[in-house]
Amino acid sequence: MINVIKEQKGNSLTVKMAGSIEESVNFEQIIGPSPGAGNELQVNTKEVPRINSVGVKAWIKYFQMVSGSGAKLKFIECSTAIVEQINLILNFTCGGEVESIYVPFTCTACKGELVGLFKTVDLKKMELQLPELKCTKCGGKATFDDIPEEYFAFLSR
Ligand SMILES: [Zn+2]
Repeated sequence: MINVIKEQKGNSLTVKMAGSIEESVNFEQIIGPSPGAGNELQVNTKEVPRINSVGVKAWIKYFQMVSGSGAKLKFIECSTAIVEQINLILNFTCGGEVESIYVPFTCTACKGELVGLFKTVDLKKMELQLPELKCTKCGGKATFDDIPEEYFAFLSR
């Protein structure tokens, strides 16, 4: 099951999804019709740990409809599962902008895993040289834990 929290601010609608995106997802039902031309739809997937192939099909169908209606699409706080799909599937963002993503880090001391939130504009400036983060469990040094050329592939499209 997936939960959605909606927040309308001016002409911008933010939808915060929580849960896995799979067979049972019905975006028309949980998000509603496209906000339409001149409006913005911000999609927050911070709490989406998984998306399967059926979920991907439903995702693309829905967000292409939103994009086609003239609404501005923005993806914010994309989870690592969503970033994988953005890299894998060329039209996953349906013409929308990816504003910020979660990046996986591993602590060099306790091997604990954590994620850091980065804006894509800042990542482009860093040229794949990510800063170290402080481990939330032991305070040790946490470093980026993936292949930069793969995890950030979509940035250079
Ligand atoms: Zn640690």
